[in-house]
Amino acid sequence: MPVLYLVIPCYNEEAVLPETVKQLTEKLRAMQADGLIGPASRMLLVDDGSKDKTWTLIERFSAENTFVSGLKLAHNRGHQNALMAGLMTAKDKADCVISLDADLQDDIGVLDDFMVKFNEGCDVVYGVRNKRETDTFFKRTTAQGFYRFMKALGVDVVYNHADYRLMSRRALEALSEYREVNLFLRGIVPLIGYRSDYVYYDRHERFAGESKYPLKKMISFALDGITSFSVKPLKMISSLGILVSLLSVIGLLYALVSHFCGFTVVGWTAIVSSIWLLGGIQLLCIGVVGGYIGKIYSEVKARPRYRIEALVKHGNPAADQEN
Ligand code: UDP
Ligand code: MG
Repeated sequence: MPVLYLVIPCYNEEAVLPETVKQLTEKLRAMQADGLIGPASRMLLVDDGSKDKTWTLIERFSAENTFVSGLKLAHNRGHQNALMAGLMTAKDKADCVISLDADLQDDIGVLDDFMVKFNEGCDVVYGVRNKRETDTFFKRTTAQGFYRFMKALGVDVVYNHADYRLMSRRALEALSEYREVNLFLRGIVPLIGYRSDYVYYDRHERFAGESKYPLKKMISFALDGITSFSVKPLKMISSLGILVSLLSVIGLLYALVSHFCGFTVVGWTAIVSSIWLLGGIQLLCIGVVGGYIGKIYSEVKARPRYRIEALVKHGNPAADQEN
């Protein structure tokens, strides 16, 4: 029976943690009874440098509840880093992990579905939200706009998938090879490329406490996602430069005509045409520099170049032994 670890980043979650642990304990117990997971399965609560009583609670739960383990980060490093710390800790102990939020927004009723897909041989199972009704109109539209923009930039992200996800041990091994500092797991995991599937669920309201993702963090997370996965914005500068340079030629002609027809004051033509032309050339040059920076950026990340999924040998195994 596979050992499952639930990895849960927690930042100032004292209000919600007792209920989360209670519900997840019941769930894990039921899954064990159903023969879906092995006896060593548990939840790993990662305290992301909380300032409230989160860690005290985690210590207490782990003392009295065999299903609870805790991991404490020295500082608040943000959701993605806390998640990564949990995943990398669970990697050597579990056959598979499922990451979820501490606030019970991710429906734990579908945990069984994740395990069924895992038992069918999937290495990654993405939790995808059916609807986003529980989100505010603003969050819903900005999030959808973001997914579309990422797709337009050629980045492979799963639509309406947050970080509710199952990963097998070998998917975690693969993930550990991505050494980038600015983590955007939703973009990295699809790059791993092993067999994957989806589980659909309804996202609930936060059970208690407040969102730890204010607008500022959300914007910086979205920008991280874009700049960590695409150099298209850099390339766009070149295209913009070419466009402005071409437009400047039209502007130049207009300025010259105005000059010779005597519509303008003295000096305007030279000033205006040099602004247009130089603006275009400058953008073009920045674009060229951007092209090289883009190359440095992908080299510095040193992502693994390929991953071998399986190895097959020609002929039957017996023939191999004869050689
Ligand atoms: N979180 C974290 N570190 C942070 C911010 C958030 O570990 O710096 C955790 C938080 O405790 C929760 C999850 O990330 O388990 C998602 O955060 P939240 O529910 O506040 O975000 P929202 O659902 O509002 O987008
Ligand atoms: Mg939440």
